Amino acid sequence: MARALLIIDVQNDFTEGGALGVTGGSAVAAGITRLLAEHPHRYDLVVASRDWHHGHDDNGGHFAVDAAPDFVTTWPAHCVAGTDGADYHPALNRDAIDVHILKGQGVPAYSIYEGNAQTGDGLTAVLDQAGVRSLDIAGIATDYCVRASALDALRDGRTVRVLTDLVAGVAEESSAKALRELREAGAVLSSSDRE
Ligand SMILES: [Zn+2]
Repeated sequence: MARALLIIDVQNDFTEGGALGVTGGSAVAAGITRLLAEHPHRYDLVVASRDWHHGHDDNGGHFAVDAAPDFVTTWPAHCVAGTDGADYHPALNRDAIDVHILKGQGVPAYSIYEGNAQTGDGLTAVLDQAGVRSLDIAGIATDYCVRASALDALRDGRTVRVLTDLVAGVAEESSAKALRELREAGAVLSSSDRE
């Protein structure tokens, strides 16, 4: 059964020092690079998403403009298309990525399923073209974009494994809750060292 790795939003703004930096984000970037180097044949396809927002508007209320961000539905400005903050973290080996998906152009978009590849295809089409039924998911943030992406992948009928050593969350409690929710929804929680 063909298997893909989904790398969710491993971008400078979501790692330490970024506009919305998550503790452990840089380690996730380095860990994914190490995983792909040590197991070059584990995945038939590697797909990475990037949050890719407008810089000239609030992206449908996603950016806090006139009030402080609540860090639930409104956020400090982050991942503006084409800026360094929106780029992949330098420790992530971008040469290992087969398909790049952009999401959030003018709208809030937490799931990789809300984005499109350069071809215009969404993730379902990308996976179907490659015959992929099984997904491993890693990235940032456990309690937001990883959660939303994994739930959508389950709804899309894929077998889903969340690599718990290669995710990082905004907050400890909501991350633990998200992992419980994903397990109850049918995802397997696993360390990346398990084949
Ligand atoms: Zn965003």
